[in-house]
Formats: sequence, structure tokens, C-alpha cells
Amino acid sequence: MHELTLCEALLDLLDEEQARRGFRSLRRVRLAIGRFGCLDPDALVYAFEVTTRNTWLAGAKIEVDRPPGRARCLDCGDDVEVEDRLADCPHCGGARLLPTGGDEMRLVEIEIVA
Ligand SMILES: [Zn+2]
Repeated sequence: MHELTLCEALLDLLDEEQARRGFRSLRRVRLAIGRFGCLDPDALVYAFEVTTRNTWLAGAKIEVDRPPGRARCLDCGDDVEVEDRLADCPHCGGARLLPTGGDEMRLVEIEIVA
């Protein structure tokens, strides 16, 4: 299950952050996952609740943003933002878009309990 793998990567990230900054717990975690990443945000929220249940992260809330993906249009050469992989170029309507970003996971902000 994809969401579970993502969740494990997220927990590693948060463990590192805690080791570095030395806070006790987290109240809220905000993530951005590009819209090209195939993902069910509800499933990720659920996976997060389950995998953190008996850890120092228990009770932390998770929020997921879905920023647009980025692509280069092979017809007009523009770098554009697109909602999904099958979208046409918003400038010239061309269908030959090369994805250049938009499936990465990024930690946007965390609200800590010191
Ligand atoms: Zn174009």
C-alpha cells in the first residue's frame, strides 16, 4: 500500500527533526504532496493515525496539501503548472507535456509541543 510507504518515510523525517530540535511531541504536521503523486489523502491520514498510535507522535494531526505539478511543454517550450498528468498545455493547448516535478513529498510545517 503506497500510503503506508509514504507514511514510513514521513515518520523517518519527523524522527530526524525531533532528534535535531529536541521537542517532545507534535500537535500538527502539514505536508505537500504534488498532484502527480498518485495518492489518496484520506488513506494517508488514516495510515498516519494507525502507524503513530503507540509512538511519540500519537495524537498529532496531519494535513495534506496538493500543489499542482510542473511540466515542460514540448510544443511551445513553456514551463507550466498542471493539475494532472493528462492535462494539455494551458498556453498552447499542446498535449505533449513532459513532467518536471510534482510527485515529491515535502514537509511544509510542523507545530511542536516543546
Ligand atoms: Zn504549450
